[in-house]
Amino acid sequence: MNQRSPDKDPPILRFKCTSCGKCCSDPQTFVNLTFRDILNLQKGLKVPTNELLQYIGFYTYNVEEEKDLMEKMVYSPIITEKGKAFVGILRQEGSKCVFLNDENRCTIYHFRPKICRSFPFTYKIIDGDKGSAAKLDVIYTKKGLEYCPGKTSKSPIIKRKKILNLITENLAEISADHNLIQSWNKLAENKKITPKASNYIFGIIEMDNQLKLPDLKDDRARKSKKNSYFNRKKSRKFRRNTGIF
Ligand code: SF4
Ligand code: SF4
Repeated sequence: MNQRSPDKDPPILRFKCTSCGKCCSDPQTFVNLTFRDILNLQKGLKVPTNELLQYIGFYTYNVEEEKDLMEKMVYSPIITEKGKAFVGILRQEGSKCVFLNDENRCTIYHFRPKICRSFPFTYKIIDGDKGSAAKLDVIYTKKGLEYCPGKTSKSPIIKRKKILNLITENLAEISADHNLIQSWNKLAENKKITPKASNYIFGIIEMDNQLKLPDLKDDRARKSKKNSYFNRKKSRKFRRNTGIF
C-alpha cells in the first residue's frame, strides 16, 4: 500500500446501492468470512452447525499459479484435508452468493459479513506505517470503480468517518482472525489435530461460549431467515463442479 501526504480536501464519497447484484455475483471475488462473521451468520440464521456448513465454502487454490493473487489477500487460508483454503460464503451457479435472491437482494442483509458492509469502499494508508498507528483514508475499491453503479454524482454523500470506523473494525477483526488461523495451522502442522475444514467451523462455534459474542437482537435478522435463498441441490452440484468444497 503506497503512502502519500494527507489530502487537505479529500474527494467527496457518494454511494447508494442500486441492488444490481454485480458485487454479489462477481466470478473474480469470493466473500471471505472471519470467525466473527461465521458466528454472526449462525446467530442470524439460527441454524445448527451442520446446516450452517451448507452455506460455507472452502476455496482451495494453486500455490504456484496464484502466488501473485495470494500476496494481495488480506485474509489467511486455513489448512484443511484438501490443502490450504480460504473460508467464505458459498457461491452457486453463475457465481452468485448463496444469499442473493432472485431480486438481487441480500437475504442476510442485517447480519451480512463485514466485507460486504464496506463495499464499494476500501482504505489507503496516508500517514505512518502499516499497523494500528497508521492513518487511513477511505477510497473506492478497484471493483467498485469498475462496475458499481451506486456511486454516481447524484448518489447521497457518505460520511467518511462512518466508513473509516467500519474499515478499522474490519482490520481489527481480520487481525484476530489471522491469529486464530495461525493457531489452527500450527496445530495442524504439528499433527495435534486432524485439519478437517468442518472441524474448524465446529471449533469456532464452540469457542463462542468463551467469547460471549452478544446475540443478535435485531428482529429484522430473524425475518431475513424466512427469505433465505438456498438451493441445496444446485449447491451440491456447484461444489462438485468447482474447486470449492
Ligand atoms: S455493485 Fe454496487 S450497486 Fe450493485 S449491488 Fe453491489 S454495492 Fe449495490
Ligand atoms: S452476503 Fe449478501 S451482500 Fe454479501 S455477497 Fe452475499 S448477497 Fe451480497
